[in-house]
Amino acid sequence: AKASGRHCWRFFEIEMDAEARMQHVLEIDLRSALASDELDVHYQVIVDVATRLPCGVEALVRWRHPVFGNLSPDRFVPIAENTGLIVPIGEWILRRACAEATGWPAHVKIAVNMSPVQFRSPGLVAMVRGTLAAVGLPPERLELEITESVLLQKHSEIIDRLHELSALGINIVLDDFGVGYSSLNYLRLFPFSKIKIDRGFVGEMARRTDCATIVSAVTGLAHALDMATTAEGVETWEQFRLVQAAGCSQAQGYLFSRPEPAGRLDFSRREIGER
Ligand code: C2E
Ligand code: CA
Ligand code: CA
Ligand code: CA
Repeated sequence: AKASGRHCWRFFEIEMDAEARMQHVLEIDLRSALASDELDVHYQVIVDVATRLPCGVEALVRWRHPVFGNLSPDRFVPIAENTGLIVPIGEWILRRACAEATGWPAHVKIAVNMSPVQFRSPGLVAMVRGTLAAVGLPPERLELEITESVLLQKHSEIIDRLHELSALGINIVLDDFGVGYSSLNYLRLFPFSKIKIDRGFVGEMARRTDCATIVSAVTGLAHALDMATTAEGVETWEQFRLVQAAGCSQAQGYLFSRPEPAGRLDFSRREIGER
């Protein structure tokens, strides 16, 4: 038992080492990923619950690594945050997504994720304003998705920055609502135009009536405060009917579409009918 215990421990050490080395390799490779044209943006439609037609699109970054293949953002966005690379990468994603959106129907909004590190970076507001002007996208068409981790800092500074951003005419969206410490107070303190209900909740709704009750209550509250709601991670028609019953205004998930390259988006197609 001792020997195998020691063996396990050594195996664990080797694993840890491999993981650390991998992190290091990815960190180095990420520095050149933008210049090497390895990053790409995919787009996932968000549908209006009432019409089931696309009303928005979320931009999701992708990395085609020359050796490891497609890496999920969960794998490399944290590295980009730790190294500060998320600032230039995030700026590139924003510009790319906004430029793409200029070719879409005017009612379709483009949602771009913003890391807390990027949110805190100096010159953010000017960068966003400059990007919109450069590509010619009306600010009302842009949604910036932030998570509550952005809000866990000094409130007065965050509030100032959020107000500067919304003064540009863009929309601020609270992502992943319902996980972590989401406080109802956030809905009052910050100028959100929409909240996205985390897919963990949406997934549980079918099994647990208490989850459905929470989603209905949060949706009612959001709408009373003049905010829209998007249910994330809708994968089945049962889930769609539940989020519809809960009053969510928008839905997003594999039921409607996977994230796909810009060229595959088709806004004239009603891809969303019960089959
Ligand atoms: P998120 O912002 O919550 O994005 C939604 C994630 O859920 C995406 O994963 C999307 O592909 C996935 N998803 C959509 N519909 C479904 C569904 O029906 N079922 C399931 N199981 N998943 C669904 P993805 O693209 O792997 O991104 C993961 C996370 O990485 C994002 O979570 C976001 O936090 C981060 N991320 C992605 N793109 C960017 C980016 O451009 N900038 C920043 N800062 N973060 C990004
Ligand atoms: Ca998001
Ligand atoms: Ca989310
Ligand atoms: Ca998430």
